[in-house]
Formats: sequence, C-alpha cells, structure tokens
Amino acid sequence: MFSIGLTGGIGSGKTTVADMFSARGVTVVDADLIAHQITAPGGVAMPLIERAFGPDFVTADGAMDRAKMRARVFTDPAAKAQLESITHPLIRAESERQRSEARSAYHIVVVPLLIEAGERASKVDRILVVDCPVETQIERVIQRNGFPREQVLAIIARQATREARLAAANDVVVNDSAATLQTLQREVDLLHARYIEMAAAESKPHT
Ligand code: ADP
Repeated sequence: MFSIGLTGGIGSGKTTVADMFSARGVTVVDADLIAHQITAPGGVAMPLIERAFGPDFVTADGAMDRAKMRARVFTDPAAKAQLESITHPLIRAESERQRSEARSAYHIVVVPLLIEAGERASKVDRILVVDCPVETQIERVIQRNGFPREQVLAIIARQATREARLAAANDVVVNDSAATLQTLQREVDLLHARYIEMAAAESKPHT
C-alpha cells in the first residue's frame, strides 16, 4: 500500500500537518504516539521496562516515569540502548499492524527521526519533510513546551540538520513563520490530491 513518511525537526509542524491529512480521511500512524501508548499504564512495554530498570522507573499508576527515564538515558548510552531494545520492536510491530489495517487510498507514517534512523528503515514510498528555519523551531518549542532555549538547542543539535532532511525529501511542506494554518492547509490539500493519484497509479496492474 502506498505510504508517505512524514518527518521534520522538533517544532517544525509534523503533528499539525499530520492532523490535516487525518482530517481528510488519511490513516496516520504516529510512532511517537505508539511509543507513548506502550509506556502508559497497562502498556505492553511496562512489564519489560520494570524488569529491566526496576520499580523506580514506574509511576504509582503503572506508567513509565518519563522524567526519571529521560534523565537516566541522557547520561547513560547503555541504558538508552536497553530501553530502545524493548520499545523499538514493539513500536515497529504496532506500527505495522496499523499500516496493514489502513483503508485509505494511501497512509502516512509520522517518523520524527526518519532521516536519523536511515531512510530505508521506515519502508515508505515517499518522504515528506515539514520544513522551517531553526529559529522558528526554537520559538515554537519554547512556546509549546516552556523549555529553556538551551534545552531546545540541545535537542535540535541531536537531530539531523535541516539540509540533510531536505536532501532526503521527495516533497516539502514549507511551514515557516510566514505560513498560516490556511496556507498550510492549501499545501496539504495539493499534496493529498497528488498522493491519491500516485496511489491509484501504483495499484493499477502492470501490463
Ligand atoms: P512537531 O510535531 O513537528 O513537533 P507541532 O505540529 O506540534 O510540531 O508544531 C509545534 C507548535 O507550533 C505547535 O504548538 C503548533 O500548534 C504550532 N504551529 C505549527 N505550525 C504552525 C503555523 N503554521 N501557525 C501557527 N502555529 C503553528
């Protein structure tokens, strides 16, 4: 089935763009959302996380203690690798399940670290990058999360560069500070029409 990998730096507008496709009836599979769900109370990753890291990393209601885990993996690469060895296969399996159940003409997979993970790993037909200048990212994330500027800069420094993302892109949505939700919606609708055509061409039997 025809699939689009949607990516972009933190604060670029991935969620905003994904929601616009979703409102047009496109199935959106969101790796971050799945990561959240499997580490929520009763999530499938929780017994494994508790066994590997101990009850200190589990909150009273049975979710992963995100703040504690973030602090731990930030300073300890082995712990990061261990956490990822638990979560990544579960995220991949759930993502595959949702993709196989998609009933729209094409579907979108939101993968924040698509470029960092290697483009081929995400198994998508096209890469759609939501692009904006770094300064816009910083302003949005400060506004949205209330993080100090240094923290936003540190996150951005660990992600792929804007140039690397653009080099890998098949399609680009420009979401800079001049973009309004209306102009963004127009770009999404143009892409949506093109993707429906591409998906139809793809599903035609080859003669
Ligand atoms: P990401 O998912 O890439 O981190 P979001 O879609 O959450 O980014 O966008 C970051 C923040 O900026 C959100 O609070 C969102 O509402 C806001 N935002 C994104 N694009 C626009 C835009 N074109 N106009 C106004 N606000 C925007």
